Amino acid sequence: ESLDQGLSKTKESVFKKLGRAIIGKSKVDDEVLDNLEEVLITSDVGVDTTLKVIERIEARVSKDKYFGVDELNNLLKEEIAALLEENNSGEEADFDLPASDTPYVIMVVGVNGVGKTTTIGKLAHNFKKAGKKVVLGAADTFRAAAIDQLEIWAERVDVPLVKQSMGSDPASVAYDTLASAKAQGADVAIIDTAGRLHNKVNLMNELTKIKNVMRKIVPDAPHEVLLILDGSTGQNAFEQAKQFTKATEVSALALTKLDGTAKGGVVIGISDQFKIPVKYIGIGEKMEDLQLFRRKEFVESLFS
Ligand code: GDP
Repeated sequence: ESLDQGLSKTKESVFKKLGRAIIGKSKVDDEVLDNLEEVLITSDVGVDTTLKVIERIEARVSKDKYFGVDELNNLLKEEIAALLEENNSGEEADFDLPASDTPYVIMVVGVNGVGKTTTIGKLAHNFKKAGKKVVLGAADTFRAAAIDQLEIWAERVDVPLVKQSMGSDPASVAYDTLASAKAQGADVAIIDTAGRLHNKVNLMNELTKIKNVMRKIVPDAPHEVLLILDGSTGQNAFEQAKQFTKATEVSALALTKLDGTAKGGVVIGISDQFKIPVKYIGIGEKMEDLQLFRRKEFVESLFS
């Protein structure tokens, strides 16, 4: 799907709400700003981030008392893109990886059901398409289904998967995966992990152990800790981000299922609130439906 199609539900909803926010108005006044605040909050941008955006727009408008409502879309695009840039300054141009003797290690975290397995499959597809050699590791050994699902993706994308039986030590699977990736001269190893939030100490210990064991093979692993969040779950996604950032050092975010929600504003709020770059967005179930997040294209798509 294209970005516009993938975001169409949010897009349409924002368009309608913005239309209502300025109805009968010719210039941006306090009432328009109040309405705008509501548009952003009801699009799951989050209260704090919304207030920040409104403040910035207010500052721009106060300099020019005759700011027309027809310029509101451009104002929104500019101010939100600027906000996102503060967290996403190092945007990737494509699915590339730094050249290295050792595999680039991506450790994937997130609770069940958010689209973790799907995102790993899509990442594998994209890296493979970019000419990279990929190895997957099924270190979510807590559920048999997790291993099976990842295996289906590995077969679909045609990349090797390292697994052990259900209940085996996740760190051991991660170790095997990196050993295998290194032996094969792979460019990237993507490690799935179990996301059991109900026991935070366990989660923290498990992730720490996986990291330590991986470093026996690749000293600076993981290069990326990617937290997957379901973009259609609004406040739950915020809460999960809070929990996971407490349990481990998260370096990048992937927001999934944006095609299924009218509240894609969550991308803006989460990026701003946690100061972690949104690197990928999921806009469908197929392997092609993962995109690198590009702030300008994103705001352009939402507010045009
Ligand atoms: P996991 O339990 O976190 O590994 O979740 P899965 O990867 O199994 O995904 C759960 C469900 O969400 C599956 O039905 C996926 O097809 C679906 N899914 C994942 N990502 C997306 C997305 O970006 N868009 C849509 N529409 N569905 C998605």
